[in-house]
Amino acid sequence: NCCYITGFVPLYQSWESFYTRNLYRRIRDCWNRPICSVAGATMDIMARETHDHGWNFNLTDKKIHVMNFGSYNYLGFAENEGPCKDAVEKVTNEYGITACGSRQELGYLDIHKELDELIAQYLGVEAAMTVPMGFATNSMNMPCLVGKGSLIFSDELNHASLVLGSRLTGATIRTYKHNDINDLEKKLRSAVVHGQPRNHRPWKKILIVVEGVYSMEGSIVNLPEVLRLKKKYKAYVYLDEAHSVGAMGPHGRGVVDYFGIDPKEIDIMMGTFTKSFGSSGGYIGGTKKLINHLRCHSHASVYSPTMPPPVAQQIIASMKIIMGLDGTGEGMRRIEQLKENCRYFRRRLHEMGFIIYGNKDSPVVPLLLFMPAKIAAFSRECLKRGLGTVVVGFPATPIIESRARFCLSAAHTREMVDKALDVINEVGDLLKLKYSRMELPQW
Ligand code: PMP
Repeated sequence: NCCYITGFVPLYQSWESFYTRNLYRRIRDCWNRPICSVAGATMDIMARETHDHGWNFNLTDKKIHVMNFGSYNYLGFAENEGPCKDAVEKVTNEYGITACGSRQELGYLDIHKELDELIAQYLGVEAAMTVPMGFATNSMNMPCLVGKGSLIFSDELNHASLVLGSRLTGATIRTYKHNDINDLEKKLRSAVVHGQPRNHRPWKKILIVVEGVYSMEGSIVNLPEVLRLKKKYKAYVYLDEAHSVGAMGPHGRGVVDYFGIDPKEIDIMMGTFTKSFGSSGGYIGGTKKLINHLRCHSHASVYSPTMPPPVAQQIIASMKIIMGLDGTGEGMRRIEQLKENCRYFRRRLHEMGFIIYGNKDSPVVPLLLFMPAKIAAFSRECLKRGLGTVVVGFPATPIIESRARFCLSAAHTREMVDKALDVINEVGDLLKLKYSRMELPQW
């Protein structure tokens, strides 16, 4: 009752409230460490003293140099060196930092046009458009695609930007179990009669929303099966390739490339540049009709400024390298290196006895800590030994599935990967994390 009077939410109303207010407050140094260098294969990080723990990582705003296994620098383009750096410097001198306007209001530069065309060529689709923020690419474009009277099927582990975008559409949303094709089909079957023409059913449109690689699980969407259901139930597919474009597939063109699927089978191809391209922003690729519609109606295109020119140039330069247009073979080398690093890292962790999630080729490697109490200890003990990584817990994961999330990069050398593995091994022993090596009782 006092909550109604004071307007405050009770402190322990939910687990979320308990964690964010009480527990995470005491270990907040694990998430808010400022970086003061390029977020490359290594980084300089500010480590803060936390006054409420006597035993923990005890540094007062000290800059330390550590290996970086937390940033989404999959192909090493965040390193700020080589041909990308030169091209970005040139564009910054010529165009400045911003275009000072939206696409329709003098904000569309020739480099934006070049980028749109290059993305379409890279993805193998008719047309593409960019948005200066990956999160807004989902949340601001989805309401332009479906609306009230439509039905969205969303994987339960879809990213927050997809969840927000789906909610903003006003459509009915049904979630299905993560990557569970049977559950998706069961729900599709209950929504439509198989074979019923689109204009004879209660829904204007049906949209299935999936990600290429799931960022907390490292799992890969079962795309061939999703496409089978799309055809069977005459639905549309929205594919978010944020963590897979550049990082997956023999040519680095995402999960579509990984499964050898014709990109034109996907109705809406989405991805971001924050990961494999070492830049920022997002894209939508598809038919000319789709892209023209979004350009004219989407809030992300009409009301937001275009991408800063240096950001756009970084994408152009890195994309050309990935596509092999520079003629050096550097793109393929990086794609191969990333794949090798992922497989090696996963195999070694598995041999050490850790429990890890995800597909063998996924650049995201979640290592299970299980107990929330181990989150801070893992993060601090790794940092003490020169390894920076990301730790995640409730509400981003189920309460007993706290985890550390490693992101591999083509910029990690074998020596660096081995060093990181040594640190993880040591911390794993210290915190008793090697669950699959636990002695089982003999019956
Ligand atoms: N989609 C997915 C699947 C993501 O994981 C993210 C962020 N990691 C986004 C979209 C948003 O992209 P950005 O960080 O570039 O805004």
